[in-house]
Amino acid sequence: MNEPGVIRKLSEDVVNRIAAGEIVQRPANALKELIENSLDAKATNVIITVKSGGLKYLQIQDNGTGIRYEDLEIVCERFTTSKLQQYEDLRQICTYGFRGEALASISHIAHLTILTKTSSAKCAYRASYENGRLKGPLKACAGNNGTQITVEDLFYNVIARKKALRSPSEEYTHIMDVVTGYAIHNNHVGFTLKKFGENTDLKTPIKSSVIDNVRIIHGNTIARELMEIKLTDPVLKLNVNGYITNVNYSNKKGTLLLFINHRLVDSQAIKKAVESVYSTYLPKNAHSFVYLSLELDPKNVDVNVHPTKHEVQFLYEEQIIEKIKSCIETKLLSCNSSRVMYTQA
Ligand code: ADP
Ligand code: MG
Repeated sequence: MNEPGVIRKLSEDVVNRIAAGEIVQRPANALKELIENSLDAKATNVIITVKSGGLKYLQIQDNGTGIRYEDLEIVCERFTTSKLQQYEDLRQICTYGFRGEALASISHIAHLTILTKTSSAKCAYRASYENGRLKGPLKACAGNNGTQITVEDLFYNVIARKKALRSPSEEYTHIMDVVTGYAIHNNHVGFTLKKFGENTDLKTPIKSSVIDNVRIIHGNTIARELMEIKLTDPVLKLNVNGYITNVNYSNKKGTLLLFINHRLVDSQAIKKAVESVYSTYLPKNAHSFVYLSLELDPKNVDVNVHPTKHEVQFLYEEQIIEKIKSCIETKLLSCNSSRVMYTQA
């Protein structure tokens, strides 16, 4: 009657598909991983093309190092990486990637094709993958230096997920958020985003500035009100750079673009702290635009707390947040005394 269940080992493909679903929850997660790979490969130009909010088609082309011919066989297997060798390396990891899971995950829940060329190779190679494995032989072909990754029919074999993500336009909004975030933070890299067969929606130049990119992406109403902030604290091993709107600017919807050691992350604690400082300067229900880049000693940051790496944990959080608050406060105070009225100009 109440017999215990028989315990069996899951097959590797089932394990991998489950893991993939945790890392890639929507097209924007896949894109974030792919952008980070391009940045790890030192790309200076990244072009993203999307069909149906990335659900049908998501392509990213970069001009980075490319992938070696010899590595194409295993590049989509789980836990294959060129970035980490020992667990201890995690303490000083400077690349976005380290787990070797992104390409593997994507290949378990989508059709993945890589077209890549290193600068020393005579030609490019095209390879298609399924469930982590190479599908058919590598094909030599023409191509530029760098890597182009095409992800088609995301979640084709994860029916529930596919049904849950029914709005391509909502998925496109998430994609836009990821691209604009990385474009602002990586102002030396050019980013282009377009829908397949349509005009470009977003293009930032190579070697732009943070303010110029904010202007391109969010318009001059925000860009002209930005103030630069900087903060260094040797004891906390903390470096903060950022741009924040002054008290002239407010919006119904606030924006906090937060990077910790160059990763785009969420932090409710920092968000609340920023809001609390602005709340004394802005009218009720009015919010700011804040871009913050925190650099912390990698030893003090754990990036491995969440499958999407969307959250990180770091030491001395309270002290660090206090420092940031007082830095913003000082800046807002200094501009409050010199309010500029554009309406009179
Ligand atoms: P990770 O980034 O954690 O190493 P990924 O699955 O994202 O794992 O990528 C696996 C490997 O594939 C990387 O370590 C890198 O060597 C290579 N790779 C992936 N994308 C690119 C790219 N755009 N350019 C060059 N190499 C890449
Ligand atoms: Mg990666």
